[in-house]
Amino acid sequence: MTLRPHDLDPLFAELTSLRGVGEALGKLMSRAVGGRRVIDLLYHLPESYIDRRERTTIARALPGQVVTLEAEVVRITPPETSRQPTKVSITDGSGFASLVYFRAFPRNRFTPGTKLLIAGRMDDQRQIVHPDHVAPAGAPETFPGIEQVWPLTAGLFAWHLRKPVKEALTRLPTMPEWQDEGVMRQEAWPSYTDALHALQAPTVLPSPQPLRRLAYDELLAGQIALIQARANVKLRPGRALLGDGTLRARALAAFGHPLTAPQREVLHEIDADLAAPYRMSRLLQGDVGSGKTLVAILAMLRAVEAGAQAAIMAPTELLARQHARTLERICPVPSALLASSVTGRERARVLDGFADGSIPIAVGTHALVQDGVVFQDLGLAVIDEQHRFGVDQRLMLGAKGETTDVLVMTATPIPRTLLLTQWGEMQISRLSGKPAGRKPIRTTTHPLSKLAEVCDAVARKLAEGARVYWVCPMVGESEAIDLAAVEQRYATLLPRFGAFMGLAHGRLDSSVREQALADFASGKTRLLVATTVIEVGVDVPEASVMVIEQAERFGLAQLHQLRGRVGRGEAESFCLLLYDDALRETAEKRLKLLRETEDGFRIADEDFRLRGGGDLIGTRQSGTPGWRIATPETDEGLLHMAHRDAQVLLERDPELTSDRGQAARLLLRLFDRNDATRTLHSG
Ligand code: ADP
Ligand code: MG
Repeated sequence: MTLRPHDLDPLFAELTSLRGVGEALGKLMSRAVGGRRVIDLLYHLPESYIDRRERTTIARALPGQVVTLEAEVVRITPPETSRQPTKVSITDGSGFASLVYFRAFPRNRFTPGTKLLIAGRMDDQRQIVHPDHVAPAGAPETFPGIEQVWPLTAGLFAWHLRKPVKEALTRLPTMPEWQDEGVMRQEAWPSYTDALHALQAPTVLPSPQPLRRLAYDELLAGQIALIQARANVKLRPGRALLGDGTLRARALAAFGHPLTAPQREVLHEIDADLAAPYRMSRLLQGDVGSGKTLVAILAMLRAVEAGAQAAIMAPTELLARQHARTLERICPVPSALLASSVTGRERARVLDGFADGSIPIAVGTHALVQDGVVFQDLGLAVIDEQHRFGVDQRLMLGAKGETTDVLVMTATPIPRTLLLTQWGEMQISRLSGKPAGRKPIRTTTHPLSKLAEVCDAVARKLAEGARVYWVCPMVGESEAIDLAAVEQRYATLLPRFGAFMGLAHGRLDSSVREQALADFASGKTRLLVATTVIEVGVDVPEASVMVIEQAERFGLAQLHQLRGRVGRGEAESFCLLLYDDALRETAEKRLKLLRETEDGFRIADEDFRLRGGGDLIGTRQSGTPGWRIATPETDEGLLHMAHRDAQVLLERDPELTSDRGQAARLLLRLFDRNDATRTLHSG
C-alpha cells in the first residue's frame, strides 16, 4: 500500500475543519500563520520554547526570570477599589511572593492552605502578575512541560493554538521517507512527521535536527520543482541554429579587439544551446562593464548565419540607440532600430524589413513586442537588463517566433543563493572580468563635511578634460525630498561648473532626460548630476570620475553597478563615495568592501548576506519570500546540498516513479511544489 498525494488531503483542509476553530478564530489564525490550511498551521513553528519543568524556589528566583514554583496559598487580599488588583500571597518555605490579578480572578483555586504549581514571570517586587499557569500541586500532569512560543497576532493567544496544533499533528499519515538514507544517518535527522511533533508538541527541548530536517525538506522540494521546470523548458521543441562563423569574424574585425576569455567561454555555452534542438532559455549575468553587448551581438549573428533573424530589446530608448550605434559600427548585415519615436516612413520601412526578413537584426525598446511587429523568422531574442521589464514583455519577445531561443542579460549579479532558489529553471552563464587594459577604479570614501575638497578634486579632473558623474540617491521614503536634494546639489554646483553641467533624473520628461544623457555621452556636457537613472547600461567610455552622495543609503551591489559606469576607457578612473558624517563608523565599515574589490559577484553575495536576503532585482527588501521554514540565505550549505540531491534524484528517476521518487511526490505536495509548471517563469 503506497501513500498517494491525495492521502494528504486532510492536511490541506481549511483550518476551520479543526475542532474548536470557528470562522472568527480561523481568520485570526490564518493571519498569524500565513495560510488558511491545516498544513499552514503545522508549518507555523514556535520561535522559542519555555521549559516549565525546571522548578525553583521563591528565594532563588531572579527578578525577570520565568519560573515554575510549588507554593502554598497564604492569604488573599481583595482589591479596595476597582482599579486595584487582587493579590494572593504564597510561600514555599524559602520566602514569600504574591500572585497579582487585575481581572478574571479564579477565586476557587486559591483557598488558603492549597498547594499549587505556578508558572510565570517573577518581577523585581517578588510578584507574578497574571501567572501563565496555575494547577493543583497534586495534578502535575495538567501542567505543561515544554511550552511553545508561537509568533502570534493581535487577539490570538498561544492557548488558542495548542489544541488545534495537536489535532493537526494527528492528521499526519505514516509516510515513506523521501530523504536519502545516507543523509538521514549522517545528519541524525528524524522523519518529517517526527520532526513536526518534536517542534510543535515537544516533550523535551528540541535539538537543532528537526528544524534542519524540515528546512531541508522545503529546500529539496524547491530544487526538485525547479529542475523539473527546467526540464519542461528544454522539452519545448526548438531548432538547431548553426553557423559558419563568417559574420562573426567580420564583426569582431570591425570591433577591433579580441574577445576576453570569459566572453569566449560564455559564447561557447550560448552556441551549444543555439545548436541544440530545444529552445534556449539562458540567463547571462554579466558583471558591469564585462562586455555583454558584444556577446549578444555575436550570438545574434550566429542566428543570422543560420538563416534566421535576431532581436535585442533594451529597457530605454537611450540604451536601444546605444546598441544600434554599436551594431551600425560592427554588424556586417542590415540592422534597424524600433522605438516609439521611430515613426512614419522609417517605421514602415523597418516593419517591412522585419516582416520580409530583409532586416535580419532588430534592436529596440518594448516597441518590439507590440502587435504590429512581425518577424519573418525570429530565431533568437535577447533581452538586455531584464529586470527593467515586466515578465510579460520578456515572454512576448520570445513569442514573436515559433521556436525562438531566448537569452536574457542582466548587469545585476544575482547571488548564488537566489539563483538556485529563483532562477533554477534557466541555464546560467556568468560573465566576469573586464577587457584587457582596464585600470582598476580607485574607490575612496569621504564624509560630507569634506565636500569642498571633493569639489576641488572634481574641478581638477574637469580641467584635465575628464567626464564626471555626480550621483544623488533616489531611494528614500519621500521622493519629493530626494528630488529636492538632487536639484539643490545641481544648484550649488552650478556657479562653479555651470558651463559643463547637465542634469538627469527620473522626474524629467524622458526625452529631456535622454537628451541630457546623450549630451554627456557626446561630450557636450562633462559633469552630469543625476539620480540612479544612469545605473543601468549607459556606456560612456570617456567618463572616468564618479561621485556618489549619501553612499550609505545604497545597497553595495547597487553602488557597484553605479561605479561600473566609469572605468570603461583607457583613463584611470575614480569613484568617490560621500557619506553622512554622523554615520562615519558604520558607513566606513560597509563601504570597505567596495574599496577592496571590483568583483561584482562577490559584492552581490556579501550584500545579499548583509541585507538578509532582500530581493536584489525586485522591490522586496527583506525576508525570504516564498519560504515557510527554510531561510535560503542562512541555510546556504543545506541549499547546495539539496540542489545536488535533487539533481541526482531526477537523473536516476526523472519521472519520480521509484520508491524514493514516489515519496518525493508527497514531499512536493507537502510544500506546494507539486505543480512544476507553476514555478515556471521566464525570470
Ligand atoms: P556591460 O556588460 O556592462 O553591458 P558593455 O557591453 O557596455 O558592458 O561593455 C563595456 C565596454 O567594454 C564597452 O565600451 C565595450 O565596447 C567594451 N568591450 C567589450 N568587450 C570588449 C573586448 N573584448 N575588448 C575591449 N573592449 C571591450
Ligand atoms: Mg550593457
